[in-house]
Amino acid sequence: MEETEKNFDIVCETVLKAVNNGNFPHGVLIECEDEEVSLRLAKLTANAILCTGEHKPCGECTACRKAIGNNHPDIIETDGRTKKSDAFTVDSVREIRGNAFIVPNEANAKVYILKNGQNMNEQAQNAILKILEEPPSYVYFIILTTQKSKMLETVLSRVSVYSLAVSNQSITDDEKEYVKEFVAAVLSPNELKLMEHTSKYIKNNRLAGRILELLSEVCLDALKQKNGFTGDFLFPDEVSALCGSLTAKSLMNLVNACNELCLSVKRNINNNLLTVRMCYELKRAIGR
Ligand SMILES: [Zn+2]
Repeated sequence: MEETEKNFDIVCETVLKAVNNGNFPHGVLIECEDEEVSLRLAKLTANAILCTGEHKPCGECTACRKAIGNNHPDIIETDGRTKKSDAFTVDSVREIRGNAFIVPNEANAKVYILKNGQNMNEQAQNAILKILEEPPSYVYFIILTTQKSKMLETVLSRVSVYSLAVSNQSITDDEKEYVKEFVAAVLSPNELKLMEHTSKYIKNNRLAGRILELLSEVCLDALKQKNGFTGDFLFPDEVSALCGSLTAKSLMNLVNACNELCLSVKRNINNNLLTVRMCYELKRAIGR
């Protein structure tokens, strides 16, 4: 439980940074076993997106006050329950889709918090996918799930994943090696190292996405270490290296850059360009 809380603070800081920088993605998935914790993060994120103050969420503007009071009309929280069903069905998603195309009531944006993502059946997820592919510019979706594995690959390819869960997915030896090499390449002053490294698997979108996801997790662990947390990290040496070489701000930038790049990779964006972009974005994230 304590680890979830620690994760919460770190993920929260990372998310708010993306909102404040104006590069928060339109589709986000928050993974956490504790639904109360993920809802808390989703609400705070929605609040920040709608805040009109300078440092979001400012806690003082009208939007913030309404969000804190749980009565902002442009924050729509739903678990998809209808009279006929107690979970998300294709009908409840269609209703959300119809509603999403109506402009916000009073803010510049509209945020949908979709709870119980793990209970969405395949049809419902496919319906969500349609709107995630081309959301209205003012709409943000935050899907909450207790298990990322219950979501369709196609949905995962359209959202940035912020995980509050303690990772227990098994990692192959190859993936381990790649992550170790990746961290060394990111930290290396030699630009070519990163280029050489990423070109090894960039043509394999699935693997590239997985390595970026793992790098994002390693950076989150490095942030935890900076905050004094001493847990069992999957990549203790890499975590220490990142923690020792980068500031908390750079680590947060790196997490967000990894999440963004992961989305591009999963969307099959031109691979040659992607290698260059990846190197550029990752170096920029750490101010090099
Ligand atoms: Zn505000």
